[in-house]
Amino acid sequence: MQTQLPRTFLETPSGRRADQILRRCVHCGFCNATCPTYLERGDELDGPRGRIYLIKEVLESGSANRVAAKHLDRCLTCRACETTCPAGVEYGELAEIGRDALRDSGALKSSWITQLLLVLVRHPNWLRVMMTLGRYMRFLLPTSLRETLTHIPRRGEATGTEDASILIMRGCVQCVVTPEVNDHLAGLLERRGIAFQFSDETQCCGGMELHAGRHHVALNQMQRNIDALDPSTVNTVISTATGCGVTLKEYGRLLGSEDGQAFSAKIVDAAEYLRSHTFTKQRKDVSRVAWHAPCTLQHGQQLRGVVESILTKTGYELVPVEDAHLCCGSAGAYSIEQPELSRQLRQRKVDLLTANQPELIATANIGCQMHMGAIAEIPVVHWLELLR
Ligand code: SF4
Ligand code: SF4
Repeated sequence: MQTQLPRTFLETPSGRRADQILRRCVHCGFCNATCPTYLERGDELDGPRGRIYLIKEVLESGSANRVAAKHLDRCLTCRACETTCPAGVEYGELAEIGRDALRDSGALKSSWITQLLLVLVRHPNWLRVMMTLGRYMRFLLPTSLRETLTHIPRRGEATGTEDASILIMRGCVQCVVTPEVNDHLAGLLERRGIAFQFSDETQCCGGMELHAGRHHVALNQMQRNIDALDPSTVNTVISTATGCGVTLKEYGRLLGSEDGQAFSAKIVDAAEYLRSHTFTKQRKDVSRVAWHAPCTLQHGQQLRGVVESILTKTGYELVPVEDAHLCCGSAGAYSIEQPELSRQLRQRKVDLLTANQPELIATANIGCQMHMGAIAEIPVVHWLELLR
């Protein structure tokens, strides 16, 4: 694709990167075939190829392009298009740059609920209080929020060991909504004699800020996380929420610093860490499981088949799931910003997951778990729960 980005923009790292990515796109449109919003709406501008053109227009003109903002807002940043693209176009990175430009021009704005959520994820105690109040006053909340309050958290009990070389990243929303997930991992490590410590509760990865186009706030949060880690003690950081994991692994690229790269090199998803271990099947009442690979795992981290292999070796039967590459519609604050499209995608996903009569759905990200759990007629659990 030919580009004519302004010279001043080309002198910045974002400008050079955008130019490089845009030039890689050969307009073939293969990516549209796996884009959930294109499949749902059938509109070229709601597919990756159309959005790439819109981002190019925004970056070339620098204008507050409201059409581009509308269609970019409908993008889930699921990155299924990246997995499909034969030319290696890094759409996710380009969308980040496009969103930043749109936010700077005033064309892209977050709703008040998203802005409130962005504050709450940095203050888990406030989030805990708000969720408790929300359960009592559900009737006052918008449907998108009301539906996510169905899960009653079981308070995490594991404490960890100070100065251990392995750190479990708690995750901001996950440590409030499903604290038991980190407890499951802690229990599995303890049983194998592996010492670990937990991250501070306030260490949000910055992913939600990044997707909302608040780049600078996100980068500050990331730097705080790096500064909070003692690199001489911790050599591995395990993430149990794939939405956090994908962002943590990108600190090096996003910050463009050596300490960012060193931090990212320590990040592993729980599945990567546990893949060489063997487990005993704990849920004797369950044999047929539908696996939902979050986009942040299969497209963002390009980790496919690892959880599947662990669960199968442990004795669970994974039922076939059609269109497994498609997003469930959760995608950070997407269910709040785009409630109708998000619900359509969720219904389609849950129908596909339950088509072959599984007894439960297993996944690896808190957003997907809450989003699908609100309507699925079978339990939706984190896969670690099946091992412990
Ligand atoms: S598949 Fe890749 S090269 Fe083809 S239109 Fe999509 S992004 Fe561009
Ligand atoms: S990130 Fe997902 S929703 Fe956005 S253009 Fe790519 S495939 Fe479509």
